[in-house]
Amino acid sequence: MATLFVIGTPIGNLEDITLRALRVLKEVDLVLCEDTRMTARLFSKYDIATPKMSYHAQSKLSKSDKILALLEEGKNLALVSDAGTPCISDPGSLLLAQVREKFGDAVVIVPIPGPSALITALSAAGISVAEFTFLGFLPHKKGRETLFKEIAASSRVMAFYESPHRIEKALESLEKFCGADRGVIVARELTKIHEEFVRGTATEVRAHFTQNPDRVRGEFVVIVEGRI
Ligand code: SAM
Repeated sequence: MATLFVIGTPIGNLEDITLRALRVLKEVDLVLCEDTRMTARLFSKYDIATPKMSYHAQSKLSKSDKILALLEEGKNLALVSDAGTPCISDPGSLLLAQVREKFGDAVVIVPIPGPSALITALSAAGISVAEFTFLGFLPHKKGRETLFKEIAASSRVMAFYESPHRIEKALESLEKFCGADRGVIVARELTKIHEEFVRGTATEVRAHFTQNPDRVRGEFVVIVEGRI
C-alpha cells in the first residue's frame, strides 16, 4: 500500500523541522515540492538526496495523473510546500482530494505535523485564542468589504495572511471598519531575524507601519481581537 506523507516544513528558521519529518523525507521515493529550489535549501542543510518534483497551484492535470500513477505503482511520496504546512493557504488540497477519490483508503495519507505561520502567530499573540476564525488570504476586490464588515461585527478572534504589498491597506480597512480602538496584532517575519509582534489598537498598529516603512517587508499574519 502506497503512502502519501503531508509534511510541515520551516516557515523561516530551518531548525524548525521535526526528526520524523527529516527521516521520512529521506525515506520516501519522491518529494512533491511547491518550488524545488526552496526545498533544495532544506535538503542541502540536512543532506537529503531524495528526488524532487514540482507540484504547485498551477500544475496541469497531467502532473496529477503522473503522481496518481506513481502511487498506483506503490511508490511512497511526500508533499511539502515552500514554507509551513501544505494545504493551509497552499497547494495540496486538490491533489489529496484526487488521491482519495481514486484510491479511497488504498493509499494512506499521513500528516507529519510541523510549523504553520497561523498557529505560530496565535501561540505568541498574548491574547485568548481558545477560539478563532482563520480567513486565509483576503480577497483583493470582490467580497473584501463584506469580509471587513464581518471582522468588525465578530466577537471571535479573526486571523488572516497578508502580503507586504497589501498590509497597509488591510490595516487602513481594519481601522475604518472595526474602529480605532479594536485590538490588532501583526506578526511579521516569524522565526526569522527580523521577527516582530506589533500589538496595540488598530490605529497604533497602523501608525507603527506608517512610521516605519522599512518594516513593511516580509511576511505577515494579522490577528484581530473580537468585538467586546
Ligand atoms: N502553508 C503556510 C503555513 O502553514 O503557514 C502558509 C503559506 S501562505 C502561501 C504564505 C503566507 O503565510 C504569507 O503570505 C504570510 O502571510 C504567512 N507566512 C508564511 N511564513 C510566515 C512567516 N515566517 N512570518 C509571518 N507570516 C508568514
